[in-house]
Amino acid sequence: MKKVTLLGATGSIGLSTLDILERHPERFVLHAVTADTSHARMAEICRRFRPAFAVMRDSAAAAELRVALEPGPTRVLSGDDGLAEIAADPSVDIVVAAIVGAAGLLPTLAAVRAGKRILLANKETLVMAGDLFMAEVGCHGAELLPVDSEHNAIFQCLPAGSIGGLDGAGVERILLTGSGGPFRDLPLEALGDVTPEQACAHPNGDMGPKISVDSATMMNKGLEMIEACWLFGVGQDRIEIVLHRQSIVHSMVSYRDGSVIAQLGNPDMRAPIANALAWPERIGSGVEPLDLVKVSQLDFSAADERRYPCLRIAREAWQAGGTSMAAMNAANEVAVEQFLRGGCGFADISGLIEQVLNRLPPVPAEDLETVLEVDDKARKLARQILQ
Ligand code: NAD
Ligand code: MG
Repeated sequence: MKKVTLLGATGSIGLSTLDILERHPERFVLHAVTADTSHARMAEICRRFRPAFAVMRDSAAAAELRVALEPGPTRVLSGDDGLAEIAADPSVDIVVAAIVGAAGLLPTLAAVRAGKRILLANKETLVMAGDLFMAEVGCHGAELLPVDSEHNAIFQCLPAGSIGGLDGAGVERILLTGSGGPFRDLPLEALGDVTPEQACAHPNGDMGPKISVDSATMMNKGLEMIEACWLFGVGQDRIEIVLHRQSIVHSMVSYRDGSVIAQLGNPDMRAPIANALAWPERIGSGVEPLDLVKVSQLDFSAADERRYPCLRIAREAWQAGGTSMAAMNAANEVAVEQFLRGGCGFADISGLIEQVLNRLPPVPAEDLETVLEVDDKARKLARQILQ
């Protein structure tokens, strides 16, 4: 029986993970769950799974949850300290890192330092501090398994044990697929008028609001390109982004001998989550079997950087190195938050990120303090520019 802690339990990845855990009560027991403010949803989860701990980052939400759950088996904690404490709990085997954004960095790192099996959905952690994070994974003997569907696909297409380096595997390139988001067919001049509701209506999946907007700008693919570089220990020149509107091929690995290995399936995050939870075994996930005859067609095309300037920005941030990626990530989080609130237009997102990057020259990402400082500066600068 494996004990699981789920960071970000109330979100889209969190709920998909709970669905898998519920299918396999003989394998997994949910030990702890965490969330930001959504105490009502958390109360439902706690009644259903009866975990030993629940952490709300927000202390008022924690107080509400305590009242809702009394009397009951779940102890409610709060704040960032509670999050880090639970992520590192010695009795836990698996930590699912499904908090959205930079807020996931410290709790995920706490789990790494405690040497857990980490199921990483929170790509922003690797974008902000990939070098430091991978070094910590190595020195604490943590086991990192990708949950992001593309990275989980690549992981499945590679020889076992390829996290951290592809040397000797005969890999030529990684082909990272992306749907192109809901605006892939919209005339360029119409992009200025799109609404948050339209951006969140992703064609191939029900995701949280931040990643939905990231998918529409394709910053998501930019973040994923950087995520893949750190995870698999390759340069950005070995990663090719390919548009694939059906989201059936989740990514591919092209080998020196001309073979290309792909991982396919219906677009449902329960597949990569189940894969990572049970790896190297295979367990049921509830995902509908793929009917290729019904799909009938798989299209592939190049991504146009005029339509998706965030792809170029992410490439340049990787090339600039150091703290550029942390600054880019922070500026993107502010821009997306503002767009979702109606504070800026969709087409302004990339411009805002570029302005922040131009005004914050990179320094080496030597330690966590430096990264967190740049994250903070980039957020302040982005908010200032937007005023
Ligand atoms: P979501 O918005 O649906 O859920 C986010 C979760 O994080 C919630 O439980 C929320 O309470 C918690 N959270 C938010 N802010 C927090 C804070 N400051 N402190 C602590 N907890 C906080 O997001 P999601 O779509 O589930 O995405 C989660 C992560 O997984 C993101 O990094 C995303 O890029 C990645 N991811 C998501 C999908 C998907 O299909 N949804 C696919 C691949 C990767
Ligand atoms: Mg993905």
